Amino acid sequence: MNTSRTFSAARALAALAALLLISIGSTSDVEARAGRPTPVPILMYHVITDPRPDAPYAELYVSAADFAGQMRWLERHGYHPVTLRAVWDHWHRGTPLPKKPIVVSFDDGYRSVAHAALPPMRQRGWPGVLNLTVKNLRVSGGLSERQVRRLIGAGWEIDSHTITHPDLPSLRDGELARELAGSRRQLRRLFGVPVDFFCYPGGRYDARVAAAVRRAGYLGATTTLEGLADPSKPYELKRVRVSRSDGVAGFAAKLQGLASP
Ligand SMILES: [Zn+2]
Repeated sequence: MNTSRTFSAARALAALAALLLISIGSTSDVEARAGRPTPVPILMYHVITDPRPDAPYAELYVSAADFAGQMRWLERHGYHPVTLRAVWDHWHRGTPLPKKPIVVSFDDGYRSVAHAALPPMRQRGWPGVLNLTVKNLRVSGGLSERQVRRLIGAGWEIDSHTITHPDLPSLRDGELARELAGSRRQLRRLFGVPVDFFCYPGGRYDARVAAAVRRAGYLGATTTLEGLADPSKPYELKRVRVSRSDGVAGFAAKLQGLASP
């Protein structure tokens, strides 16, 4: 019988238990400081100008005047626009967020974002989030590289919306990887920013696509599902669609509806 070995094993176990208790204790301290991870509204915009009379998808256009009115409404009601990165850091690292955080996101990369969305946001020191389709850097009506750099200079986050805006679930694995990892690589090389988040084109995804997004190194992905973004499903973050017909009143009603479910 080796009692001393049994004794030291028991001591080692006790020490391990103490360590575990210490680490459990410190985890709950962090949670207490940060509070419960907050679900956050992520607004979804596309074009910030009036559509031509024959333009398809007119609801994707919000006039510059309505957009400015919506930003004024956010300011008056105490909202603080932040990046998705700031939201992620709050959810996963307990980094504090300002009161009433909100993400203002723009899909595809329309030139009107630089002309009509940047000025009223920059004036308030607010960052936006641009979900950029790489090919839109080379089409008329799309943002130029210089304009994207101007957004970055104003604190904006650049996220990927693929290279060519395809229907992701219908792609084969190789093409899917090229659209996901390839767009991230190109945007990082072009602009020297992290590109840690992704936005599904047309809101189209399935389990295979979401797994590929994760494999490409993204920390999360936004959808076109309506609602508050919630940390439990980082690759299926919901958003709040802002449509042309909302105006300022409809916009306010949508946000107030989210605040009191
Ligand atoms: Zn899109």
